This record gives sequence, C-alpha cells and structure tokens, in this order.
Amino acid sequence: MTHPLYPHLLEPLTLGAGDDALTLRNRVVMGSMHTGLEDHPWDIDRLAAFFEERARGGVGLIITGGYAPTKRGWLKPFASEMTHRLHAMRHERITGAVHDAGGAIALQVLHAGRYGYHPLSQSASDKKSPITPFKPSAMSSKEVDHTATAFAKSVALARKAGYDAVEIMGSEGYLINQFLAARTNDRDDQWGGSASRRMHFAVEVVRRSRELVGDDFPIVYRISLLDLVEGGQTWEETAELALHLQAAGVTVFNTGIGWHEARVPTIITQVPRGAWRSHTARLKQVVDVPVCASNRINTPELAEDILAAGEADLVSMARPLLADPAFVAKAMDERADEINTCIACNQACLDHVFSNDRASCLVNPRACHETELMLMPTLRKQTVAVVGAGPAGLAAATSAAERGFAVTLLERSPSLGGQFRLAMAVPGKEDFAETLRYFTRRLDVLGVDVRLGVEATPDDLAGFDHVVVATGVEPRMPDIPGIDHGSVASYADVLSGAVVPGKRVAVIGAGGIGVDVSVFLTHEPEDLEDWMAHWGVGDPALHEGGLVEKKPRTPTREVTLVQRKTTPIGIGLGKTSGWAHRAVLKQSHVTQVSGATYDRISDEGLHVTVDGVARVIEADTIVVCAGQDSVRGLYDDLTSPPVEQGEGRARVETRGLHLIGGADVAAELDAKRAIKQGTEVVAGL
Ligand code: NAP
Ligand code: SF4
Repeated sequence: MTHPLYPHLLEPLTLGAGDDALTLRNRVVMGSMHTGLEDHPWDIDRLAAFFEERARGGVGLIITGGYAPTKRGWLKPFASEMTHRLHAMRHERITGAVHDAGGAIALQVLHAGRYGYHPLSQSASDKKSPITPFKPSAMSSKEVDHTATAFAKSVALARKAGYDAVEIMGSEGYLINQFLAARTNDRDDQWGGSASRRMHFAVEVVRRSRELVGDDFPIVYRISLLDLVEGGQTWEETAELALHLQAAGVTVFNTGIGWHEARVPTIITQVPRGAWRSHTARLKQVVDVPVCASNRINTPELAEDILAAGEADLVSMARPLLADPAFVAKAMDERADEINTCIACNQACLDHVFSNDRASCLVNPRACHETELMLMPTLRKQTVAVVGAGPAGLAAATSAAERGFAVTLLERSPSLGGQFRLAMAVPGKEDFAETLRYFTRRLDVLGVDVRLGVEATPDDLAGFDHVVVATGVEPRMPDIPGIDHGSVASYADVLSGAVVPGKRVAVIGAGGIGVDVSVFLTHEPEDLEDWMAHWGVGDPALHEGGLVEKKPRTPTREVTLVQRKTTPIGIGLGKTSGWAHRAVLKQSHVTQVSGATYDRISDEGLHVTVDGVARVIEADTIVVCAGQDSVRGLYDDLTSPPVEQGEGRARVETRGLHLIGGADVAAELDAKRAIKQGTEVVAGL
C-alpha cells in the first residue's frame, strides 16, 4: 500500500535478478561510515548489534564501513580488510544479525590509496595528500592489475559472507578517485595518460568483480559527482565514466561529493540541507540504473522530496541513522516528529573516527555502544526529579522515563534547552533546533511532568527516590578592570538577542563559542546560491572539479577575536569541521589576536597588551566568551549538612542524588558530554 506521507521513500525496489535479486523494503540506504568497530575482530559482536538495531528500525539497505581489498589499501595500520575466507566467516555474524532483523546489508570495499595513514600506502602516483603525513609509492602496472583483481576477490568474499550486495568506493578521494583525476594520476601506462585511460582502473574493478560474482549480484558503485579539488574531474568525464561503469556491470550508483582533502565543506551543519541534489539529478539523466542521492539529507521530508522530484531513486543517510536507528520506522508510523535528527555536527562520529576513537553520536550516545549503554526497563516504581532542562537534564529525564521511572523535570527558565538554545541562533547551526524539537516531543510522548519557570528548592525535591541535578552553567565574567562597562555583554546576551552589538566588536575568548559568536556577528543568513558562491562551488561541466573563484563576503560588522593563548585561533575546534570554521573567520575578515593580556575596558574599547606592546581594540561592544562556571547552588543546598537537628528535612540522601552536565564540570562542557552523562547516569539507576 502506498504510504500517505512518503510514497516514494517507502516504496520497495528490486536490485539485481535471479537468485541474487534483492528487494529493498524501502529506498532508505544507510550510507557507509567507518565506526572504528570494523578494525578489531573482537568488536564484531558490537558491530553486529549496531547494524542489527538499524535493521530493526526499518532501513532498506545498510552499507558497512570500508574494508580494504589489500593490506596496502588499509585506512590505517591493521585496519579492516576483506581479504581472506576467515574474514568472510567472521562477517557471517553481521549478515546473520541483519537478516534476522529483516534487513539487507552490503559490504563496502575501499582502498585508501594515498589517504592510507601508514607507510605502506600506494597510489596511482607518488604524490602525497595534503591530509596525511605519508607519501605513497606509485603502483607498478602489475600492482595496479593485482589491485583490481583484489577488489573483485573482496567482492566475492563479501558474497560468501552473506552480504546482499557490495559497494565499491569510488568517491571521496580514495584510490579509485586517485586514478581518475589528473591531480593524482600522472602515469603514462595503460592506467593513465588520458581521461579515458585514467578510467580504466575503475572500470576494471567493476568488470572483474562482475565476472567473479555473476550477472545478478547487486554491485553498488559510489561515484564522485563533484571532486571539489583542483585537477579534479569534469562533468563530461564523470558522465563518460558512469556509462563505462554501467556497461561493466554496476547495478546502482551511489554518489559522493568532494574529496576528503577538498576545502569546501560538504556535510557539516553549515552546508545547506539538500545542497547537492541537483548533481544526482544530473547523473540520473545519464544512466539507466538506479541512482542514490547523498550528503546533507537528514529528514524523511527532504528525502521524499528528492525522490518525488525524480532526482534520485534511493536516498543515502549515514549519520541520520547513527542519530536515530528507528528513523525509518518512525517515518513509516507517521511519527517523524519523534525522529532524533542528526544535526551534522560531526562531534561524536567523524571527529572520533579521525582521532582513532570509536564513533558515536552527540544526540544518541548509544550509537556504536548498543551492547554497553542500555536503558533497561525498571521494575521499581520509583520517582526521579531532574532539575535543569539543558542537554544533560533533557537526556536524563527522557532516558529515565524510557526506563519506566515516573519523572518530573523542573526548569527555572520558561523554555527547554539551556545553553543549547543559544547555539541554534548561530548561522549554519539552525539544525540544532531539531534536537530541542526531539526532546520536547519525547518528553511529551513519555509523559514526563515538565515544570517550566520553576526554581527548584530542596523542599520541592523531598520525597523523590532519585534527584538528578543538571542546573548547568552561566557565562564566566573575567576579572578585567572595566568589565562592568555598559559596552560589555555576555555571549548569552548576544546570541539570545537581548543585546544587539554595535558595528565594531571585540570578542574576548576564542573557544568554540567565541568563534560561533564571531560568525553570528559577521553573517546574514544566506541562500544556497550565495553559500555556493562564497565557497567557490561552480558547475563541473564548466570548471574542473567544480571549483571557481570564491565570491568575497561582506561582513556585517568589524570583529576582533582575542585570546590569551599563543596558539592559532580555533585550533581546538572539531577535527573535521574546525578548518571550515577557521576559513569562515578568514572569509569574514575577523581580525584574530593571540597572546593577549587584558588590561582594561574603557569607552574606547578593549585595552590589551600583545608581545609587550599595549594597544586598544576600538569597539562599540565587547562580547565575553570566556567559558562558563557551574551553577551549583541547589546541589550545595542539598548536600550541605543540616545546621541543627530537624533542618535537614528536605535533604536528599546522597545515594539518590546525582550531579551531571555543566553543573558537575563546566570546563569544556559540550552537548556531547552532557547528553552522554545524562544517559549514563540514568542507565545506572
Ligand atoms: P572554551 O572552549 O573553554 O573557551 C573559552 C575561552 O575563553 C578559552 O579558550 C580561554 O582562552 C578563554 N578564557 C577562559 N577563562 C578566561 C578568563 N578568566 N579570562 C579571559 N579569557 C578566558 O569554552 P566555550 O567557547 O565557552 O565553549 C564551551 C564548550 O562548547 C566547549 O567545550 C566547546 O568545545 C564547545 N563548543 C564547540 C563548538 C565547535 O566546535 N564548533 C562551538 C561552540 C561550543 P584563553 O585562555 O586563550 O584566552
Ligand atoms: Fe549527526 Fe552529530 Fe550525531 Fe554525527 S555526532 S551523527 S553529525 S548528530
């Protein structure tokens, strides 16, 4: 039956034919994402549980993280590979779990090429990538031939392991891309020298794979539609490649945007949703096989819209399925407002993976920890009071209610969200509002007794079995002479709109919030066309790699961002997004001052000393982003011993008292730590 809301998204699709025919129950593909669980045999059960939960949640096709076809194709030393029948046997644990849950799963075969973080890396040429310290060796013709066959063998092993399909990774700048682009391929043998010869490797990989697995086994090929690097492919070349690959046996084209070394953000929050859909639509005009859209698609509405417009046949979402394993089931039940939406922050997923940590998700700390962080139903009819409705309190309240506790959430302000509410005011962070929508709805669905505008006292908390104090933080006001001057405002005042800064602004403190505030102060909201122009994204049909000169930004204010440290500003920002934030500061002509000592604040502005030289940063407004202090008055009241017998009436037994979030530790508090701690504390009740 056709679904009333998502008729295209939830429509089945059959791939392949014969015994290998694979009917997907819907058009949602969980895109490949390395989680860190792929790399160790002992993590296989965790990985199986991770995929199983997504299969239960209704996703049409899951694609695993990348598995190398040869050791030299590893992402890092001893990383995941599919090169031996023992690997295939081990993977039966994964395919079995997914199939038992009613799902389908494809293995991704990925050769890292010059992105390999190890000294054995190989590529088409010996050109080092700008994002790895290792220079690859150029493959001999024989080695190229051997590698194409190795891809095919991995594909065959995947089939043996029970995978329903494979994906050959031909985008994001990995080995296959390195052969395709003149940027990274200066060979003059049969694997390089002209655009057509550079395509030879990709086509051979598919042709040999098809030969080994027969006509019907579904082979997905992830094709790069827009390289976003100098010396990248033109659209003409991409279209020609697609036709060759189709002829060689590709069943479905998945799509990728931008190489990892591209200096244009492609998936982080500031990228407008659905930014790349027109490129998928263009590929669909070229090929006859189904095409899958990807990158910055995070709601069922957007996914449906892309399919309904005929721009794609499938939609790939990787991080959104990390954030909510039940994404599809909720869409199916017409409960999309209950989806825990991925906010494209990268903080717990890609930032972890690129730091060699296990991936998780800022809004769903259970992701990749399904066997460890469990919210088991409680049999005890106990009550829980949560004080404070910032990320930590919201996570604690909803997790406790999910376990079956009777939960009361008390919040001093008239709205939910705490500091998180401020983040969504920053241009490019609008998606953060989705998390508050999710928690608000979840509290409602779970029947949490929410009391806003209530300053909780120890008396209010008497009688609860558990009290979770999540009273959060307040902006720190540093001890600088003149800090009481009328021109001084906190970041909270500015982001909430309570204070509208003047034209010249000095920002004290260049942590994540100082950078965000600088962006807020210099930017007007921009549409997709402007965004593309500011990042220099053009038409790959006209410009190699799709790159054009960037359109200069016209900042709305003159901002100087100041810190005491001497390190480069923004160095501590997220690994996979910090560079983009730093680039935006530059584009917006934000003046950056490091190694400053704050002398005083006067009518003129902010007086600082840098390198022993005193100077004044002229400013109409000085915005303080100097971190936060814990708000702990309530906790202290609850834990301070009674002065006299009888006065301890409202004191909560320490056994049932928990301090979490910024109220616990303010330093470097972020929503990731807050939500994780809120969930973990409740899991342990
Ligand atoms: P933060 O990252 O700790 O930065 C605050 C900065 O203020 C410090 O780097 C420090 O720099 C300065 N500072 C601290 N005490 C000071 C004092 N007494 N006087 C003057 N300057 C002082 O905190 P935040 O910017 O408030 O961010 C809070 C949390 O949210 C952090 O964990 C952050 O990672 C996270 N966040 C991340 C992002 C992102 O990644 N895009 C965005 C927003 C928030 P100096 O000592 O060098 O001056
Ligand atoms: Fe999405 Fe952020 Fe979660 Fe990654 S950590 S899946 S980007 S919400």
